[in-house]
Amino acid sequence: MLRDNHNRIINYLRLAVTDRCNLRCFYCMPEHGIDWLSRADLLSMGEMVRLCRILAGLGISKVRITGGEPFVRKDIIPLLTEISAIEGITEFTLTTNGVLTAPFVPQLKELGIRSVNLSLDTLDPARFFAITRRNEYDAVMHTFHELLAHGIAVKLNAVVMDGRNTQDILPMVALTRDLPVSVRFIEEMPFNGTGQIHPLTWNHVRIADTIRAAYPSLTKITDPAGATAAHYAIPGHRGNVGIIAAYSRSFCGTCNRIRITPEGMLKTCLYDNGVFSVRDLLRTGATDAQIATSIQDAIVHRAADGFEAERKSVHESMASIGG
Ligand code: SAM
Ligand code: SF4
Repeated sequence: MLRDNHNRIINYLRLAVTDRCNLRCFYCMPEHGIDWLSRADLLSMGEMVRLCRILAGLGISKVRITGGEPFVRKDIIPLLTEISAIEGITEFTLTTNGVLTAPFVPQLKELGIRSVNLSLDTLDPARFFAITRRNEYDAVMHTFHELLAHGIAVKLNAVVMDGRNTQDILPMVALTRDLPVSVRFIEEMPFNGTGQIHPLTWNHVRIADTIRAAYPSLTKITDPAGATAAHYAIPGHRGNVGIIAAYSRSFCGTCNRIRITPEGMLKTCLYDNGVFSVRDLLRTGATDAQIATSIQDAIVHRAADGFEAERKSVHESMASIGG
């Protein structure tokens, strides 16, 4: 079992399998994209699978595949197949923008993926285009309906942005009345690949107040262990609402996760710069035991929270971090 220097058990890996993406969400990257990693710099499928095996041996039981957009990788299904078969990984999930995902939904179901996070910031096609700079709203909605039709739990992730989509908050909450979905509103973080920090005008408190004003029966419910979202129910609604204080960072005390970036850096906090290159270790002939020891060593030197980690950090694109 991995336990950090703040007595937190680490059992959750977020693995970013590429930095590339077919959308250009303005809160994540500039219109022209970012300096994409070369294929040689990306972890290969074999390296990712080996790393997941090592981490499963250390006590990682939950893995989330993210990116960049996972489905722009041509080998995504073989990669998911290999990782899903690793002993000890009992919860296997992914985050996707849904543009290319719909045709793969039956295979995700067969692989035992029971829950998918789908990013959707608005229910309006024009606003979708304004935010993502691509005309893919229909494709994303198709994925949404395919996931529901296949009985895969859906969490909708919406980044809340002043002047962009705050008018979508209540319509998105309304989705939870008839659909068994969790709609999660995320504070905007400064990872847009431009180095510019947008002032946070919609924090978790303002988001909750906005929802409560329309739904006075909004009730705080118990959060699953290690959850970053604060969960709320509305009596009579099939789904629920989550609010993620990603910038306010009120959840660091129970953080149970580590990240591997597309170029194989281990991050023990979303806000750190990466603590060491696992890829370089993998490529210089280190044994599984040596890699495991290096990871254990990093875990016992974790920052207490995202504020401490950020002191040394630069702000990059979320696509090169693995959101
Ligand atoms: N491309 C996939 C997607 O969009 O679902 C997976 C990767 S994306 C980086 C993962 C999550 O990070 C998405 O839900 C996205 O909304 C969120 N995200 C990206 N940039 C963000 C930012 N600056 N602040 C808050 N959330 C962000
Ligand atoms: Fe792509 Fe996801 Fe970033 Fe949007 S949030 S640009 S979909 S990686």
